[in-house]
Amino acid sequence: MRFYFIFPLAACLGISCKNSSETISPAASVAVPAVYSKIYGATSITNDGTYITIKTTGVPDHKSAYFSGTNALYEAFTGKTFGGNNFAKNPNSISTQSYTFKIPLNPQMDPAHKATPLGPIGVALNGVPLFNQYAGPSQPLTNEINSFDQYWGHPQQTGSYHYHVEPLYLTQVKASKSALLGFLLDGFPVYGPEENGQTVQNSSLDAYHGHSHSTTEFPNGIYHYHITSTDPYINGSGFYGSAGTVSQ
Ligand SMILES: [Zn+2]
Ligand SMILES: [Zn+2]
Repeated sequence: MRFYFIFPLAACLGISCKNSSETISPAASVAVPAVYSKIYGATSITNDGTYITIKTTGVPDHKSAYFSGTNALYEAFTGKTFGGNNFAKNPNSISTQSYTFKIPLNPQMDPAHKATPLGPIGVALNGVPLFNQYAGPSQPLTNEINSFDQYWGHPQQTGSYHYHVEPLYLTQVKASKSALLGFLLDGFPVYGPEENGQTVQNSSLDAYHGHSHSTTEFPNGIYHYHITSTDPYINGSGFYGSAGTVSQ
């Protein structure tokens, strides 16, 4: 038996030792910039030199009233939710998804500022998708808001859990109200509702819900979105930049 273990090693020493995965993998991989490692909920993050590809299950890493009762993360919720009304649970429950977000490595402003779609428009650090300010085509979130759980997310009929507003678990537990919280599909980062000790107001942001200046992660300055407590919450009138894609 020993022969079979030694032989590949000897072959390896004789020539430059190539990992077998190198010949199987079709695309060249490039180092992933450190900032994307903040997306701790990703199952994988790769860089092909043009796009950062982020795969996630979309399942939150925090408790929710929307897990099945047998899930360790199930926790009943009876309090007030976002907006101050009583929590009104929707009939859906959280299930595992298979998201592939492809976001530009080098985000670019797009003068077309295309409208955000319904469904995922970005990804939060915990791998949960970010949704826009609508419950349906141009329908505000009016009643949906009451179905946000203890961390201000909820699942839709497909079981896809998501945030339309501040991801409370990230701003209160994992990061902070002034931290980087995720990225939209155009590759521009999303920051929390506070900056320099002040609450960010919609009026200090542009039509797409962002502005440009240096941040901890981007000391040379970058356009970035801010989440605020009032509509449109995360994004305004479309993407600031050219959006990548998301599949599920
Ligand atoms: Zn929703
Ligand atoms: Zn800012």
